[in-house]
Amino acid sequence: MPSPVTRALEIHLKSRPAGLPNLGNFERVETRLDPPQPGQALVRNLWISVDPYMRGRMVDRESYIPPFQLGQALDGAAVGIVEQSADPALKAGDLVVHFSSWRSHALIDAATAMKIEADAMGKIPVQAYLGALGFPGLTAYAGLRRIAKLQHGETMFVSAASGAVGSLVAQIAKLMGARVIATAGSDDKVRWLTNELCIDAAINYRDNPDLGAALAAVAPEGIDVYFDNAGGNHLEAALAAANPKARFILCGMISGYNTGSAPAGPANIFLAVEKRITLQGMLVSDHVDLMPDFLRDMSGWISDGHIKLRDTVVHGLEKAPEAFIGLFEGANVGKMLVRLG
Ligand code: NAP
Repeated sequence: MPSPVTRALEIHLKSRPAGLPNLGNFERVETRLDPPQPGQALVRNLWISVDPYMRGRMVDRESYIPPFQLGQALDGAAVGIVEQSADPALKAGDLVVHFSSWRSHALIDAATAMKIEADAMGKIPVQAYLGALGFPGLTAYAGLRRIAKLQHGETMFVSAASGAVGSLVAQIAKLMGARVIATAGSDDKVRWLTNELCIDAAINYRDNPDLGAALAAVAPEGIDVYFDNAGGNHLEAALAAANPKARFILCGMISGYNTGSAPAGPANIFLAVEKRITLQGMLVSDHVDLMPDFLRDMSGWISDGHIKLRDTVVHGLEKAPEAFIGLFEGANVGKMLVRLG
């Protein structure tokens, strides 16, 4: 007897945000999914990831990734459990990472899913595959190791350091023997970075409008590497503090994601000429070849306690838009996740 259709809930993009997204830009829609066709599996989502890059996909423009379409479910990374499979590679009960998030259930192509094992020791929760063991972790790992080639004894500065990518950048850089300086948007976050993650110095950028002066005070010897997640005045402060031949990893510039118009360029960009600074943009998707090394190293660091995991968890699919908007308001410490069910 064929399996019955499955009732699913999805979050659709209802309208394109102007400035900071609001709840009215999203719509909760009930739908029905047919049983999987050959090559497909039906997955029930357990955890979904909300990420700042999704804001760029809400704009109808050509980019490195297609824009979200109005009236359709948003997507992104998720961890789910297979309920039905019509592909020999997956069976009911398997845990998978896949890219049909923002919905309770999804029909996925089995070939595009990554099967994961629940950690028998209980040290690595499955949702880590959306954070430290997922793209945020790979971004940090590839940026520091492959692009910056961070060296023991160097000084590294990272912005948005209490978030998913930033907190991993900070911790990996410490493991690589660097002196680490960080910024975050509250005193609690600064305390977490210095007391729990043992970061050398952290600045609450909201309390320090003259970020250049605050950075110079904690980095009198200058910085050798800057991992940019914020752009704007963070990038200007880093240019001012940079040592000759410093390397900048341009990973993200969240301060400009909701401005609606192109932000002013760094006023002091000519320092990049004078100091012969390397400014290198990065996209994590260029570095998936590092996945085996990354998974081996990162699982080891988590298991032996060298990397600490922290999530901010919002419960219920209908709260996904709220979780997403919270990224731009500093509502998260560590990885922002939505737990379903
Ligand atoms: P996240 O850091 O976990 O969350 C975003 C954080 O940004 C918030 O917690 C907030 O913390 C901070 N923030 C918000 N508005 C800010 C502003 N105006 N100035 C400075 N900080 C601000 O997010 P994530 O996923 O790890 O992403 C971090 C950055 O990396 C983003 O720019 C993202 O686009 C980028 N990224 C790039 C790649 C790639 O392949 N290039 C891959 C993943 C992520 P505060 O309280 O500190 O403000």
